[in-house]
Amino acid sequence: MSNHESFISNIYRGRFAPSPTGPLHFGSLVSALASYLDAKKQQGSWIIRIEDVDGTRCKSSYAQQIIETLNSYQLFSDEPIRTQSQHNALYEQKLHELKKQSFVFPCNCTRQSLAQYNGNHPFECQSSINKPHSWRLRTSSAVYQCQDSIQGTLLFTDDLKNNCPVLKRKDGFFSYQLAVVVDDHLQQISHLVRGADLIETTAQQLYLYDLFGWTPPNICHIPLITNHYGDKISKQNHAKAIENHHLPTLIRALHYLKIDLAAPSSITDALWQAIEAWDPSKLKGTKYLPLEAQDLHFI
Ligand code: GLU
Repeated sequence: MSNHESFISNIYRGRFAPSPTGPLHFGSLVSALASYLDAKKQQGSWIIRIEDVDGTRCKSSYAQQIIETLNSYQLFSDEPIRTQSQHNALYEQKLHELKKQSFVFPCNCTRQSLAQYNGNHPFECQSSINKPHSWRLRTSSAVYQCQDSIQGTLLFTDDLKNNCPVLKRKDGFFSYQLAVVVDDHLQQISHLVRGADLIETTAQQLYLYDLFGWTPPNICHIPLITNHYGDKISKQNHAKAIENHHLPTLIRALHYLKIDLAAPSSITDALWQAIEAWDPSKLKGTKYLPLEAQDLHFI
């Protein structure tokens, strides 16, 4: 069992890594704030990274809009913003390293042929490299555990046994899994603070860290803001774009992070107070936070 303890480092480097498949919605503002407050509370750097490897769903106009919205809330990247689609050669090189060690295999399977496995790919197939193929990570019986300061101990036992995730798609686009690990390592990110929906992909990422021989960052997952059906508010279920530079929206977003400010005079003042007040232990064990009645206009 690999037991990943915190990245032992006194340099905190955090990030917010949106996929620009739509404008910033209320749930993503809450995530951006959590990663920002955690970094700033620990005198760290906070970096924005645009995760646009999926060229079929991401748009540069959304990326621009997301950055403008973040900036309108005084959330500025401490370093130049990295855009993943400009670094495909690097992901190709990393995939090549995995190929050389036979950690990946080519796959001709289609969505249809995998329907019986709920879209998972539980074992290695006999596929031809001469036909259109994706590249999948070989399964592993490795078991992972990580200490999430909000969600507690996360134990991953079957995640890697039941699925061989795609690292490069048939259409040539790299997957989030590969790009996120390569970039977090390259950018020396020490702490990930992100939504609890990403817990399900954490084991795959820890496995990739192992294959590359890298130390993973400290990882923690904040609760998901859910709608009245209990679903995460997301672009898929048409969450609205938030208004730019709107103090009442910021105050409500901070409320879900257990920060209730008295009467901030401005966005800058609210952020200063929020850094002081940020205490992730107040969210301990919380995976979902339903939107309160007064906030239903955000969806
Ligand atoms: N790009 C991912 C998303 O927008 C988040 C990646 C991460 O925080 O690890 O869902």
